[in-house]
Amino acid sequence: MRQLQNPDSRQKRPFEPFCHSNPEPYSGCEYVLRVGVSAALRLANWLKIIVFPRIGVLRLPHMHKYILAFLACFSFLSAETVPEKSLRTLMEGNARYSSDKSLHPDRTSERRLETAQKQEPFAAIVGCSDSRVAPEILFDQGIGDLFIVRVAGNVVGPLELDSVEYSVVYLHSSLVVVLGHENCGAVQAAVDGVKDSVEAVMELIEPAVKKSASMKGNRLENAIKTNVQLVVNQLRTSPKLAEYIDKNLLKVVGGYYNFHTGKVQLLPEK
Ligand SMILES: [Zn+2]
Repeated sequence: MRQLQNPDSRQKRPFEPFCHSNPEPYSGCEYVLRVGVSAALRLANWLKIIVFPRIGVLRLPHMHKYILAFLACFSFLSAETVPEKSLRTLMEGNARYSSDKSLHPDRTSERRLETAQKQEPFAAIVGCSDSRVAPEILFDQGIGDLFIVRVAGNVVGPLELDSVEYSVVYLHSSLVVVLGHENCGAVQAAVDGVKDSVEAVMELIEPAVKKSASMKGNRLENAIKTNVQLVVNQLRTSPKLAEYIDKNLLKVVGGYYNFHTGKVQLLPEK
């Protein structure tokens, strides 16, 4: 991990567009609005100064202001926040992986050297330790893209929470995904009441097992999805993370990975 930074430093960084894997901590609304207004000003100025004087019939009073207002409104309505962009980037990667079209991005020696002194993972993943659920593979990402916390049953205790908060506060990750998966052995153990050698993990999964016990359908799948949703709620109510969510700088979502399709399904909020 790199040296800790003052979290407030993100407010002082110069404005610049974000790129694929390193989105800047500005909201999409702010970014698009700024770019839109800037472009509108230039266009309006150009129309007013260069075109309209030469084509007198088209020159209308205050025309440039109408164009400016229209473009500003259009920019605002089409805005995408940084967390939304991060989620889209992640899900596009999963779509590539699940259709055997992985690009394996950011895995060159150049990328390794580029990130040697500094990392800015755009998303944090809380996933299961299961050997079949490697986030960089199933989201088709590379070096420096994802900050990953993996523990059996994708549960969150104090250490895991600290790791997620570190990613958001100091590395500027704008998205946290809690990722459960099909046929999770840890959740199955909790459903079966197994405790030997796995007490701490079972203790954290048990609330989901109890909550989902009366649900219709597959008991294990219900418990896995409920476990994800409870962890999502747990993270959202963390005071540090809630602060970033309130400022529209962070999104926390839950997902369910299907071994057979390779797809990650985003779970509804509960
Ligand atoms: Zn698992």
